[in-house]
Amino acid sequence: MQNRLVALFGAALLLLGQPGGVQAGDQVTREKLKAVASFSILGDMVKNVGGDRVEVTTLVGPNGDAHVFSPTPADAKTLADADIFFVNGLGFEGWMERLENASGFTGALVVTSGGVMPIVMRGERHDHDAEDRGGEQDHADQAENEAYDSQGGGNTDPHAWQSLFNGKIYVTNIRDALIAVDPEGQETYEANAAKYLTAIDAEDKAVREAIAKLPEARRKIITSHDAFGYFGNAYGLEIVAPEGVSTESEASAQDVAKIIRQIREEKIPAVFLENVTDRRLLDQIASETGAKIGGVLYSDALSGSDGPAPTYLDMFRHNAGALTAALSS
Ligand SMILES: [Zn+2]
Repeated sequence: MQNRLVALFGAALLLLGQPGGVQAGDQVTREKLKAVASFSILGDMVKNVGGDRVEVTTLVGPNGDAHVFSPTPADAKTLADADIFFVNGLGFEGWMERLENASGFTGALVVTSGGVMPIVMRGERHDHDAEDRGGEQDHADQAENEAYDSQGGGNTDPHAWQSLFNGKIYVTNIRDALIAVDPEGQETYEANAAKYLTAIDAEDKAVREAIAKLPEARRKIITSHDAFGYFGNAYGLEIVAPEGVSTESEASAQDVAKIIRQIREEKIPAVFLENVTDRRLLDQIASETGAKIGGVLYSDALSGSDGPAPTYLDMFRHNAGALTAALSS
């Protein structure tokens, strides 16, 4: 609605020839393509490629958890009105099929991870900290399990965007899909994608160099958030998951004792434990092992615009910085 109003306003200015109005040649009467992205990281990529031609709505916003998302009727309405729907795939959006059916969406569905080389999760299934899981979310979990199973592996790691090499595959898929539904925009999408791919290449080089500077023996972290398999493979970092510790609830003192033993045995120099929020337990880990306590690594969602990771590339910048701070000497 807002777009239509803006378009009409622009057209009126053009007719009246008012100074400061739109320039001739601006496509003021064209409706923007309506795109929906399943989660914030994908939303940012689509915005970069779509530019002014595309209006992007993101279902799971900054700091949200796409694994346990429960779409609302408003989300179904948003999707019903959309021309194109971008999802990650690889079993990430267990709620997707239900939402698509409920919405009656008839636009183009784009699986942006198409063409990446999937890896298998090392642990059991990936599961997120979800303190307040309701019944709806149990259904979502079930659907997610089915999605995993239907993709053969049962244990496919969906977090493929955590390698910038894969990020370039996502961007290429987004570009081609936008051109397919909006051929008039081909030049724009190609130019935007080319510029974005160059920026991704530069960030990839920066992350690679940052990790390569770390002493080899220190390129190892323990994290409760098992979402960095692709990152570890791409940039040469060993990611260790805490053994026998639930990632779903706040770690107990007993869990912390196990983690301390594991950090000592495996000589892990830094810990990124998001399910240990008790400062005293973190201090205990640090003092008993000498391991540094890292900050927050962004994995499945961006931060808000005032946070440290408001875009896909900012997320890599932030994560590389946090890792460097915790692992250098
Ligand atoms: Zn995840």
